[in-house]
Amino acid sequence: MAFVITSECVKCGVCIDVCPTSAIEEGDEYYVINSACIDCGRCMDVCPIDAIKGMKINGQ
Ligand code: SF4
Ligand code: SF4
Repeated sequence: MAFVITSECVKCGVCIDVCPTSAIEEGDEYYVINSACIDCGRCMDVCPIDAIKGMKINGQ
């Protein structure tokens, strides 16, 4: 898993809706990406504040 949600996350929930593998879940302080992530990068594309960092491996 090459993607991570940073503490900048404001828990808007937008990324959860676009994740094809339901790999994003609500953590204690902000959202977290679990092992179901396939590195598609969709979450990073939709995050309004660029709180998701990572490198796309699959998808475009
Ligand atoms: S990179 Fe893709 S699979 Fe991984 S958490 Fe983001 S939307 Fe889900
Ligand atoms: S889209 Fe960005 S700010 Fe919104 S819940 Fe996901 S990581 Fe947090």
